[in-house]
Amino acid sequence: MARRNQLTCSFCGKNRGQVHQIIEGPNVHICDECVQLCNTMLSEEMDAPKEPRAFNLKVPRPPEIKAFLDQYVIGHDQAKKTLAVAVFNHYKRLKQESHFQPDDPLADVEIEKSNIMLVGPTGSGKTFLARTLARMLDVPFAIVDATTLTEAGYVGEDVENILLSLIQNAEGDVARAETGIIYIDEIDKIGRKTENVSITRDVSGEGVQQALLKILEGTMARVPPGGGRKHPQQQYIKINTEHILFICGGAFVGLDEIVARRVGKRLLGFSESEENAARPKAETGPDLDVEPEDFVRYGLIPEMIGRLPITVSLAPLTEDDLVRIMTEPKNCLVKQYRKLMAMEKADLAFTGGALRELARIAFKKGTGARALRATVEKIMTDIMFDLDSKIAGRTIRITKRIVEQERFEDEDAAQSQPQPEIGKAEPELKKAS
Ligand code: ADP
Repeated sequence: MARRNQLTCSFCGKNRGQVHQIIEGPNVHICDECVQLCNTMLSEEMDAPKEPRAFNLKVPRPPEIKAFLDQYVIGHDQAKKTLAVAVFNHYKRLKQESHFQPDDPLADVEIEKSNIMLVGPTGSGKTFLARTLARMLDVPFAIVDATTLTEAGYVGEDVENILLSLIQNAEGDVARAETGIIYIDEIDKIGRKTENVSITRDVSGEGVQQALLKILEGTMARVPPGGGRKHPQQQYIKINTEHILFICGGAFVGLDEIVARRVGKRLLGFSESEENAARPKAETGPDLDVEPEDFVRYGLIPEMIGRLPITVSLAPLTEDDLVRIMTEPKNCLVKQYRKLMAMEKADLAFTGGALRELARIAFKKGTGARALRATVEKIMTDIMFDLDSKIAGRTIRITKRIVEQERFEDEDAAQSQPQPEIGKAEPELKKAS
């Protein structure tokens, strides 16, 4: 007994009487307090940000990235090129440390990230571009909505929640998440609109922007895990945002007018050169000549614009684009419905007139490609509802008249081959017949 009381912790020197318990090992002892301390130190160590990994990825070159996007996204050529180059550079930035020997004069040159601002009307495919990009990339990717941040106020942690989805998409691997890409949608909704907007709203919008700014420029963020925890001491996940690429998107309704006003002012200030006179009135589109000051006038803080140096404008989709969106991409609506029909051993054909009429109806709604699904679904629901088992071996043909009247007719495939008027849809239809 006397010997037991003489036991001391090999780490802190406390004896048996001063602590709850002492664990004995071969020629070594540790008290419960030191075990506790070690536990804390270990969990902190595990949370600590790790150096970005030396990536042994096969980096897709910009034309490969663009070719992949082309399979799904119609139009927006310049945006696809810009995104392809930005993502390519993002990969290279991740590899920069392992690429250069320490004695190389370029080893010290830090390649900074260039976050991207995507400006384009609703339904033009901003989120879709980001989502499609994510499909081909070997880095974690998350899409978040900036408006949810406004609702929750501007407490720092709320904004830091945007990092949580990235960590989740990286399956909890923080080091991998630190090399990921985040798409922040509706970035235009956290700015002040005009001087008339209430003070409270302005302040909260700016608060969110300030908090976002820190994350955008690179910080050691603390993210509440929001789920079950391994250690009671682990309150936050620490993540370094320095290498995370941010793509921000927004419709920026009215930005074209701000640009037009600025361009107009310049015209007043200078004698009208031929070049200026020939310049078209600014409109939302790939030629929209946005300057940082226009975003500031829109309500974004200058520091934030500074952190989004690449601006890409998407043109509104035309009726022709909508027809192509229905028929060309890998997962287009027409192919999806044809697949559904094929499972009933039937074929489906849209005539060119029908496609154009559908595009016209969707276009009128002014929500870009978003209206397409609802429009096509409206026609197809009745058709799918009335399908019976006798459909096998036949071709359902959707004509302009059906679209106009929302009725359908089916024809025996043997009697009447579909005759699409639009060249693009033709090979699709032939393949199945
Ligand atoms: P935005 O983010 O610009 O408001 P979305 O990316 O959400 O628009 O577009 C809505 C849907 O419309 C997408 O999920 C996609 O199916 C379709 N879409 C939009 N633009 C295109 C496009 N350029 N090419 C192909 N499909 C598109």
